[in-house]
Amino acid sequence: MHRLFAKLRTKATAPSGEVNIDALGLAVSLAFEETDRDRRRTERSITLMVDELEQLNRNLEDVVARRTAELHERERELRDQNLRFDAAINNMSQGLIMFDAQGNLVICNQRYLDMYGLTRDQITPGISMVEVFKCRIAANTFAGVAEIYCNDVMRELASGQIAGRMVEMRDGRTISISNRIVPGAGWVATHEDITERRVAQKKILHMAHHDLLTDLPNRIMLGESLGHALTHAARGYSLAVMYIGLDHFKTINDTLGPDTGDDLLRIVANRLRNCIREGELVARVGGDEFAVVQNGVTSPMDAALLARRIRETLGAPYYLRGQTAIVDASIGITLSPGDATEPAELLKNADMAMSRAKAEGRGTYRFFEPEMDARMQSRRTLELALRNALPNGELELYYQPVVNLADNTVTSCEALIRWHHPERGMISPAEFIPVAEEIGLIIPLGEWVMRKACADAATWPDGIKVAVNLSPTQLTSPQIVPAVIHALAAARLPAQRLVLEITEAVLMQNTGTTLAALHQLRELGAQIALDDFGTGYSSLSYLRSFPFDKIKIDRCFIKGLDDGAESGKIVRAITGLAHSLDMATVAEGVETEHQLEQVRQLGCTEMQGYLFSKPVPLGEVSALFARTVTLKRSAA
Ligand code: C2E
Ligand code: CA
Ligand code: CA
Repeated sequence: MHRLFAKLRTKATAPSGEVNIDALGLAVSLAFEETDRDRRRTERSITLMVDELEQLNRNLEDVVARRTAELHERERELRDQNLRFDAAINNMSQGLIMFDAQGNLVICNQRYLDMYGLTRDQITPGISMVEVFKCRIAANTFAGVAEIYCNDVMRELASGQIAGRMVEMRDGRTISISNRIVPGAGWVATHEDITERRVAQKKILHMAHHDLLTDLPNRIMLGESLGHALTHAARGYSLAVMYIGLDHFKTINDTLGPDTGDDLLRIVANRLRNCIREGELVARVGGDEFAVVQNGVTSPMDAALLARRIRETLGAPYYLRGQTAIVDASIGITLSPGDATEPAELLKNADMAMSRAKAEGRGTYRFFEPEMDARMQSRRTLELALRNALPNGELELYYQPVVNLADNTVTSCEALIRWHHPERGMISPAEFIPVAEEIGLIIPLGEWVMRKACADAATWPDGIKVAVNLSPTQLTSPQIVPAVIHALAAARLPAQRLVLEITEAVLMQNTGTTLAALHQLRELGAQIALDDFGTGYSSLSYLRSFPFDKIKIDRCFIKGLDDGAESGKIVRAITGLAHSLDMATVAEGVETEHQLEQVRQLGCTEMQGYLFSKPVPLGEVSALFARTVTLKRSAA
């Protein structure tokens, strides 16, 4: 202050040394003002600084609060996570146990304790593996020496590999153990009780290899067991494979019902089980077919003896839900190594031999012969060719007239199918119709015949009907009535001009549906003829079961007329019966003038046969309609 004042005074002092008071006063007041400004400036700065500091402080507090909250949050999360981890570990379906690299317990879950009958206070973190296993020995859930087992595990661990294992427990449980090394921290083992899964797997495996109804091994298992038996067959001994087919099982099933049929099959299975020795096999290979593998066969006689015993056993009466049934069996036998050495081939052989036994009258056994194979091959070739016959246009309809014996005119023509085989030439329907039946081809084939026959007949004079043969399978098919209606409609042929020929075999199958279809067809206006009459079993009861329009007397009786034997009496009886039932009678297969005379005398109302005409192609049939006179003359 002094220096400032001295400076101001020097400034206000004239060179003469006189002090200018006014100037000094002005200078001093100026100096004061400046100092005051400085002070105010400083004060403002300080205020600003304080504000700044306060703001900083507030920010810092915010940060601290936020960090603290975050920390709390983390802590809570960690706690939750731990809880979840504990819950997860303790609720695992597997037992879990973890050891550190030294083999001391890190963690063990509740499931592990439960699985091995341990308690939480026994198994505390830090105890050694050996102690864990000693506890398990005490709980009777470990069979072994704890130290040895643990040493083994530790050795495996040291080698960098801990193998998983499957353990069968004393109480029957199966435990699957899998180990995983935790890098630098020991290992964790999970224990899974797979008892139920194994039982289910075993069950599935059993089901895949056994027949549900009889619990016998099925075809798959038969193949596998046969393969095994073949590789282990004792030197010098043969093995016999038998196919056993129940005769007429279908009839039993149809008449007594499927449940009774099932009962019968179960009893058959049990009887077969009792026929074989230890180490031999019975299997069910089809609906009513079984197979037996016989070991230690020294000669075909051994197999024949067993086959006879099987037939005898199966032939004893069956008492089923209040009914008694008798069942016979047809058996096919093949021997290994004589006939074949491959399971598939042996089974095929046995099947073929069984078919032969069935074909030769059933209720018998047949050994396989190589020529059966050849026959089977040609049959298969025939099937294949037959499937192509229709699309290839190899089928044709021939027509054979049926002549009314009252006025000797043609009343109808029977459609008879012909197959022009590209290599074999003409094949008889007697050969291929049964094959078509068996492979189901008869349905499309029969529909083709129906359409073609109706279309052909539509070109004939109004008075001439067309007769179409229907096989059993066609009549049990729900398609038969619509198929007939379609064929008639497409050809614009009145139903009254259609005759449907069926045999007794048709009535033997599924009578209910068959009769219903026949009634429907008859109501449409078609006539129904009973074909091949006299060759079946209980013809008279069939005559009563349906109001047939005509009966075709089988050719064998007409042929018999020449011998002067019983045939005449039979034909007379049939025509008498038919007359009283208001049915027409056709004599089939009339070949001679003599036969014609006789059938006329015996009361037949119509005839059909080579004498008048063989079956002819469509193009030749109309010429026959005019030939009625010829017959009239020759017959007169
Ligand atoms: P079927 O219905 O009894 O037919 C009569 C068979 O006797 C025919 O044989 C016919 O040619 C033959 N025949 C007719 N008159 C005489 C004769 O005087 N002497 C001799 N020896 N035979 C005579 P085909 O044509 O070989 O037919 C055989 C069987 O094939 C038929 O017997 C029938 O059951 C079946 N069939 C033919 N065509 C068809 C068809 O379109 N559908 C069905 N389901 N079966 C058919
Ligand atoms: Ca016929
Ligand atoms: Ca016939």
